[in-house]
Amino acid sequence: MEAFTNQQLQSAVAQLDQALASHEQWYKGVLRVLVLHVPPDKSDLAPAAHRLCRFGQWFESPQAAFLYNHPTYASLGAAHEKMHVYARTLLQRVVNDETISESDFDKFNNTLDRMRLEFQSLRQELADLVQNRDPLTGARNRLNLLAALREQYALVLRGVQVCAIVMLDLDHFKRVNDDYGHTIGDSVLVATVNCLQAHARPYDRIYRYGGEEFLLCMPGTALEQARGAAERLREAIAALQIPVNKSGESIQITASFGVAELSALRSVEDSIDRMDKAMYVAKTSGRNRVATEEDCGPVG
Ligand code: GH3
Ligand code: MG
Ligand code: MG
Repeated sequence: MEAFTNQQLQSAVAQLDQALASHEQWYKGVLRVLVLHVPPDKSDLAPAAHRLCRFGQWFESPQAAFLYNHPTYASLGAAHEKMHVYARTLLQRVVNDETISESDFDKFNNTLDRMRLEFQSLRQELADLVQNRDPLTGARNRLNLLAALREQYALVLRGVQVCAIVMLDLDHFKRVNDDYGHTIGDSVLVATVNCLQAHARPYDRIYRYGGEEFLLCMPGTALEQARGAAERLREAIAALQIPVNKSGESIQITASFGVAELSALRSVEDSIDRMDKAMYVAKTSGRNRVATEEDCGPVG
């Protein structure tokens, strides 16, 4: 999901809404059969009913491919199939003119609730991602940054894990804007985030901290490891060839990095300050380099 553009995410949310609406439509049809004893839809009596309903058709279609690797895909699919099994039992009873037991009816309703819950949590996750993203680069915006860092900090306090934070600031970015214009400047920011996303680990989170400043939160990573990771990111950014026109000309950019650790011995804000200072050291000692809080001298 991280790698999706905002547009893809928005269209995913819209698709989910539509899928849910068609599912509610189906549910109304089932209720009519159960209450009014009108004949059910033939496809709802078929063993593959979960594939034949509109939701099921969408769920197995290439349009839902964006969900294939999501952990909810399998559990939502299972909940949906189970719900159809119970629905079939009820509908078959109506066809046979048999009484529906309370327990069968409850089972159907429980699986229905379960499916709706899976569905809503997936929708919420996607909607949150859209809301928390910077529209230009697709990196996370600052909205949720402090809350997310505090969550990591809580784990650090309990000794569950270490967590590094890394700030990077593009070098002489103003010159890029001045020399090539804002649109090229924007495409440099997009290329930077794409590069970070390609090289960061899946659980690293990338935030746009300010104009050309990005913050990476690296759970499970101690200071020295984070220095190594930042060094690799620095090299990857310096190696980028960013096109500036159609005739194949390109520019290169560099970034300076500051690295600190969330530590139980100080607040999140103090760690951010240390990271800022490290970044300042990287800038003043020549740019295109990585400095950690250990390169900043004594605290104070
Ligand atoms: P340094 O190496 O010291 O970081 O120099 P710098 O030029 O990168 O730093 P400075 O902070 O002076 O300039 C940052 C520039 O980033 C100024 C601003 O116009 C530009 N900028 C900020 N946000 C955006 C954006 O969204 N798009 C574009 N194109 N430029 C932006
Ligand atoms: Mg800056
Ligand atoms: Mg800069």
